[in-house]
Amino acid sequence: MNLPLSLTPLIGEDQLLRTKKQIEKAQKIVIVTHLSPDGDAMGSSLGLYHYLLSMGKEVRVVVPNAFPYFLKWMDGVKDVVVNTYIPTVAEAMIRNADLIFCLDFNTLKRIGVLGDQVEQSAAKKILIDHHLDPDESFDVVISYSQISSTSEIVFRLMAQMDNGLDNISTVIAECIYTGMMTDTGGFTYNSNDPEIFEIISLLLKKGIDRDLIYRNVFNNYSDQRFRLLGYTLSQRMKIYPEHKASLLYLTKEDQKQFTLVKGDTEGFVNYPLSIKDILFSVFIREDGELTKISLRSQGDFPCNKFAADYFNGGGHLNASGGEFYGEIEDAIALFEEGLEKYAEILQNSSI
Ligand code: 5GP
Ligand code: MN
Repeated sequence: MNLPLSLTPLIGEDQLLRTKKQIEKAQKIVIVTHLSPDGDAMGSSLGLYHYLLSMGKEVRVVVPNAFPYFLKWMDGVKDVVVNTYIPTVAEAMIRNADLIFCLDFNTLKRIGVLGDQVEQSAAKKILIDHHLDPDESFDVVISYSQISSTSEIVFRLMAQMDNGLDNISTVIAECIYTGMMTDTGGFTYNSNDPEIFEIISLLLKKGIDRDLIYRNVFNNYSDQRFRLLGYTLSQRMKIYPEHKASLLYLTKEDQKQFTLVKGDTEGFVNYPLSIKDILFSVFIREDGELTKISLRSQGDFPCNKFAADYFNGGGHLNASGGEFYGEIEDAIALFEEGLEKYAEILQNSSI
């Protein structure tokens, strides 16, 4: 294969051929991604969306619920169908599709009510993802957990299908870069693979402005978010030095004091990892009827296992999430119980 630079072909010939064939056969294509879409969910979906549009397909991105405002600058977001706003449109799109791409999640449970609709749709289904343990209930599974973002896999898919980058526009490159950047915290974790930087180089040659993308995503918050961050770090942080762990939490009442919008607490969970010797950070936040848990770790501590054991969740080794139904105090107590159970593993973990 004649790939640029020294990129290693990642995607198997069989998956490539089957994906190509399904795209050729399909006219109506839907791209779905996970609940509370993040930069990688939106970047990979919109990157693929622009690519398929340029092939003359009827394409729509359908997301289960709203995405954060700091992604609203992305090209194509205005055409994204948000299920919580227009459920009948979302449902019809999924029902009438010939082909559905499922991006950045490993099981249909991660797309909420859209899961049943996707399952029941007669469309062919292709999974593109980087989480562990993908469901096998798709026609094609393109899943590589060693790759740090789904956006990178989408880039490689396009490059390998076309045997080059001719069809990758600046807009597509921007979307891909956004997902690669956000899923690695601005290339500060899961970012040691040298090929990431080869791809960045190729995206730069496609004309992206990576400084601008960084500012659009990370320097675009409201002052309210900043005040809430200050409050959370000063009033709602507990450190457990003996467990090398920290907790941030926010009740509904805490959040009411600040005028919050979707995405305002994004990234909070990462801050305590800057404290010396803290390698496990958990953020517990009341969110409507449920309590949402975000977990992050450094080094080899498996925060996805902790999420699965205590919060019915999962994700990656160093970034995972879960849910809790009940009072926030009980979620905190459960977390502390988990810390005791994991005490030895935490003590033996290092960054
Ligand atoms: P975040 O903390 O940013 O919401 O989620 C971090 C990662 O954890 C996501 O990329 C996803 O892989 C995983 N994740 C988040 N919430 C859940 C959940 O409720 N269930 C599972 N299985 N994974 C989750
Ligand atoms: Mn991702």
